[in-house]
Amino acid sequence: MEHRAEARIDSSAIASNLARLKSTSSVDVLAVVKADAYGHGLIETGLIAEKSGADWLGVALLEEAIALRTHGVRVPILAWLLPPGSDFRAAHKHDIDIAVASIAAFKEICALKSKVRIHIEVDTGMTRGGFLDEWQEFLTLDFADVEVVGIFSHFARADEPDEKENSDQVTRFNAMIENLSAIGINPRYKHISNSAATLKIHGAAFDLVRTGIAMYGLSPDVKTLGSSKELNLKPAMQLRAKLHLVKECQAGLPVGYGATAITSRDTKLGIVTMGYADGIPRIAQGAGVFFDGRRAPIIGRVSMDQFVVDLGPDSTAVSGDWVVVFGDGSHGEYTADDWAAASQTINYEIVTRIGPRVPRIYAPHVY
Ligand SMILES: *Cc1c(COP(=O)(O)O)cnc(C)c1O
Repeated sequence: MEHRAEARIDSSAIASNLARLKSTSSVDVLAVVKADAYGHGLIETGLIAEKSGADWLGVALLEEAIALRTHGVRVPILAWLLPPGSDFRAAHKHDIDIAVASIAAFKEICALKSKVRIHIEVDTGMTRGGFLDEWQEFLTLDFADVEVVGIFSHFARADEPDEKENSDQVTRFNAMIENLSAIGINPRYKHISNSAATLKIHGAAFDLVRTGIAMYGLSPDVKTLGSSKELNLKPAMQLRAKLHLVKECQAGLPVGYGATAITSRDTKLGIVTMGYADGIPRIAQGAGVFFDGRRAPIIGRVSMDQFVVDLGPDSTAVSGDWVVVFGDGSHGEYTADDWAAASQTINYEIVTRIGPRVPRIYAPHVY
């Protein structure tokens, strides 16, 4: 069956980005594939990353980790969002490393007496996950029933690499590593760097870097770190959709719900077969689609399953043609960064929110 829309994922772009990140960091790389691999497809992307040299895979949820394992991933997998009450036994059974950030979770894990592999998460200034108030008490506990594989933290402002807060976080991280060492625990893996830090904060790689967005070829922050191109990254996802309809419209017609836009000229409008149910932000204004070498901007509000673009009076598009919603920008098409700017959000959200109705196709981009 021919789809009405698809996200094409170029595995060679992921491989190239991973190679770039590996050579930059010169330590082990953990490919972050949480949230359906930022919309790129959990299992396929996990397998592509493993094949392309990722030393580890990382996810938020236990069920994501188990899905990777049961689909044949063999490299170590770290899952970092397991509240007390999680099925820690299943984590152990599937050989999954888990992050521990509270005494409550630690005690449940110890009670299994199974030497579960853990990475101790410490809060060094992000004030999100990780030990902070419980740290001193945690250090008094008995670690005999777990295998401490790692200690890790997370940067709050790595996309502003010159901020003093980054070096402060590294200082606190080193101090907490020392605390642990003082009770005789010296984990093999110390890690704090995300994509932005891997690219821009040299000296913070420790033993492992956890890269998400950059592996997908997107810049962690276009304003402060530069574009994908400037960072030598290749956007892996191209989003395409078919035109349900192309029709000639006169100037002065109101378009869409609320009649928020009016055709400014006699023109051809294209009805694109994607909407906010597919992850196209309803507030997007100033992005659009690409057809036959030209950009066609959104006109009016995005609806649930459709949005309307102004193709221009002399467009050759006809009903049923494919248009590019976003791509790597190399042909002049809109990028995920353009869509983010048009929707008051970040590229992370643009790719991650692409919904399950959109099939992921693992194939090169097409124009
Ligand atoms: C999501 C996440 C990452 C990856 O961040 P990017 O900015 O996409 O590289 C790394 N570590 C943790 C703990 C995360 O939650």
